[in-house]
Amino acid sequence: MNLEHILTDEDRQIRETIREFAKKEIIPNAKKLEADYSLVEEVHQKLVDLGIQALGYPAEYGGGDGTNTALGIICEELAKGDGGISLSAGINWGIILKPAIVVKNKTVMDRFIPSFCSGKLAYACLSMTDEAGGADSENPLLQGSGIKTTAKLEGNEYVINGSKAWPTHSGIAECYLTICTTDPNAGDEGVALIYVPKDTPGLTFGKPEKKMLFKTSINSAVYYDNVRVPKEYRLAGPGMDANFYHFLESGTGWHSSTMALGIAERAFEIVLEYTGTRMGGFKPVRQHSMVAGIIADMAIGLDMMRASVYNLSCMMDHLDIYGPPWSPAFISKAAATRVFASDMAVEIVNKGAELLGSLAISEDFPYEKCLRDAKVTQLWLGGQQICRYRVARGYYDLKNWA
Ligand SMILES: Cc1cc2nc3c(=O)[nH]c(=O)nc-3n(C[C@H](O)[C@H](O)[C@H](O)COP(=O)(O)OP(=O)(O)OC[C@H]3O[C@@H](n4cnc5c(N)ncnc54)[C@H](O)[C@@H]3O)c2cc1C
Repeated sequence: MNLEHILTDEDRQIRETIREFAKKEIIPNAKKLEADYSLVEEVHQKLVDLGIQALGYPAEYGGGDGTNTALGIICEELAKGDGGISLSAGINWGIILKPAIVVKNKTVMDRFIPSFCSGKLAYACLSMTDEAGGADSENPLLQGSGIKTTAKLEGNEYVINGSKAWPTHSGIAECYLTICTTDPNAGDEGVALIYVPKDTPGLTFGKPEKKMLFKTSINSAVYYDNVRVPKEYRLAGPGMDANFYHFLESGTGWHSSTMALGIAERAFEIVLEYTGTRMGGFKPVRQHSMVAGIIADMAIGLDMMRASVYNLSCMMDHLDIYGPPWSPAFISKAAATRVFASDMAVEIVNKGAELLGSLAISEDFPYEKCLRDAKVTQLWLGGQQICRYRVARGYYDLKNWA
């Protein structure tokens, strides 16, 4: 799918820079990066030096006011090298602080944004999935009632109690956007989004999770034991916080789709190259019609994915046309892209594996990484089932039937 008509010269330049960066700094070192997080930090610092981290923040803080289309391209290109690095770069680029920027919460912006524009690597964290309840905290049908982490206003402070499972960057982030409830019976009205600095007493972290994929990003539990923060660290207040909680569901689903696209594109590149030189039946494997058919199916899937993901990036840059990103219609569109892109990524890498024989799963060949990395895009953010609820809600008033 040729999407050049929606890109600016700057988008194209960013694509070229990050594509070269992934080829030079990530792809040749993929195994070493998965084994040593200090090397991952060196890669991130190089991205910071290229101005990528600051790009998503407002110019008044030294940022680049970057578009979602640009971020989508960055995450897609980085995911060709490594999914975990792409995930981290996207989170640190501004997804976590974007809600505060949109509602102009100056206290939060002044407290947290400067580190991300300082020229030094800084991490942010979306602390959403509750240990108790898991996908319930991300299920839009439960309208906030599935959130188990509580926030109570005492004087000028919120007191937070609860625990979260698996947030990316837990323990290393300096800013935790924590999804809480002030009253689970109040549904969406009880939803509170509160920014918590790392050094706050009562905030502790579990051991890093050991995982088969995205080894270059860190996950662990986050524990809140009477964590007190100024009341101004709450995003906006009842109603608007719930809107942004739903917005995050679409924004993070979009981010996931950009990674799914990059991973599938990398798989396609490897398959195309290998089947062009590997001989079978006295000719390159890809000259057999059965193989050509599979390669065509992979290319068709990629084309449709790219169209869907870039369209969503563009929609996010044109809220003047598409309305607030927390509307059921917008979330439905974003969730449809996420479900389609991750299912398609897994299908593409699985099909491609058939054309590589044993090499597909060899640890000395780059393809097994695509097989691993693609899978997570179906699992997080409530999984494909919860995401399908988001799609259906765009068309009718889908209720929880529990
Ligand atoms: C690499 C990685 C990075 C992550 N990063 C973050 C992060 O940055 N921040 C964060 O907060 N979390 C993060 N997570 C956690 C992730 O979002 C959750 O694991 C995920 O949402 C599912 O929660 P769970 O594992 O507890 O699943 P469970 O709640 O145990 O659910 C298991 C499955 O049951 C099904 N299910 C559950 N409820 C329903 C229902 N009502 N209807 C139909 N089916 C249902 C779904 O298929 C679901 O996948 C990350 C996870 C991974 C693996």
